[in-house]
Amino acid sequence: MRPVFALRVTPRNRNSWPSVATALLGAEAAQALDFRVLERPGELPDGTRALAFSFVTPELEGVAREVRALRASHPGLWLLAGGAHASADPEGTLALGFDAVVAGEGEQAAQRLCGALAAGGPPPTGVWRSEALLELDQSLHVEPRLGLFPFAEISRGCPCGCAFCVATRLFGRRMRHRSPQVVAAGVALAARAGYHRFRFLSPDAFSYLGRDTLERRAALEELLVRCFEAGASQLMLGCFPSEVRPDRVEPELLALLRARCLNRTVVIGAQAGSDRVLGLMHRGHTVEASRRAVRLAHEADLVPLVDVMFGFPGEAPEDRQASLAFIEECLRETRALIHAHVYMPLPGSAAWPAAPEPVEDRVWAALEAHTRTGRLEGDWRKHQRIGARILRWREEGLIRV
Ligand code: SF4
Repeated sequence: MRPVFALRVTPRNRNSWPSVATALLGAEAAQALDFRVLERPGELPDGTRALAFSFVTPELEGVAREVRALRASHPGLWLLAGGAHASADPEGTLALGFDAVVAGEGEQAAQRLCGALAAGGPPPTGVWRSEALLELDQSLHVEPRLGLFPFAEISRGCPCGCAFCVATRLFGRRMRHRSPQVVAAGVALAARAGYHRFRFLSPDAFSYLGRDTLERRAALEELLVRCFEAGASQLMLGCFPSEVRPDRVEPELLALLRARCLNRTVVIGAQAGSDRVLGLMHRGHTVEASRRAVRLAHEADLVPLVDVMFGFPGEAPEDRQASLAFIEECLRETRALIHAHVYMPLPGSAAWPAAPEPVEDRVWAALEAHTRTGRLEGDWRKHQRIGARILRWREEGLIRV
């Protein structure tokens, strides 16, 4: 019986596994191992030798609990961690009870670890830093052999480096793309498995390939056409879990989305109604760019869903007032919906470990009032609680950066 190498798949990390799984299955040593997916912690397959986790910081406490339980129930099991949190705090992640941690993109390191495991010696330990970035176009976004059919990741990496976000540090500044042919090849396999509605995953859906708007429009159109030909019946672009940057929104791109995609909502990352706060966030665009993007989406017969964040470090009461005024302007002058959220401190982001600014009750009251109209949504109370918990974990030593 071959030793089992299991991937701990959760609803939250589903999108991060296929390219790692493809790398593992393509490793020279793969024949010596039996790869499985573990969806529930209590269902470890017989013969499991290794279990790999990938998780984000808000999941830290739950993962720590699961690792403690596994250490007690399966003392010889080799536990490996990767993903956003492990990359930002490899030493702290090791201290949770993992044997080895991959910091950075996991594909190449996973292959080397797989080889070491198949060789039958003692499993590798410590921090493995992965400097190499995956050439996205060389792998599909699905891994049918393990039943992994997540959202269609079309791009990875982000040049913007917004101070609250971990994408640039985790995936690098160079935006890499899967070509329309490669995305469509993944869609064809997913369609054969019974999937027909696809959401595209990208740090900025309107930055797909191309040097200017016309080239990007042509690339997106080819992407959509090829995916339909591959068996998709519904395609969703520029909406959850992706968004578009305000400074990339152009009428030609919105018209294409309106004509070819299922979604009638486009998520616009405005983030603040204050240029001073946008500067602190290193967003690289102005409030005027957000205003224009919201108006263009409205004129394109789409619903702009506008992301606005409160409590970013350094934000002052007058900045929050400006964000409320921006929200009210969007609601008054367009059919926009608002997604309000609170800054959450995350290891790996440039702003870490600064705490959120306290937000006045009058701001919450204004957001609540808009909620009652049905045009504003958001889990800001939950995000506040999670943010406070993350900072407490740092004080308690669960996070070491
Ligand atoms: S928030 Fe968006 S644009 Fe900014 S760094 Fe993250 S992925 Fe890039």
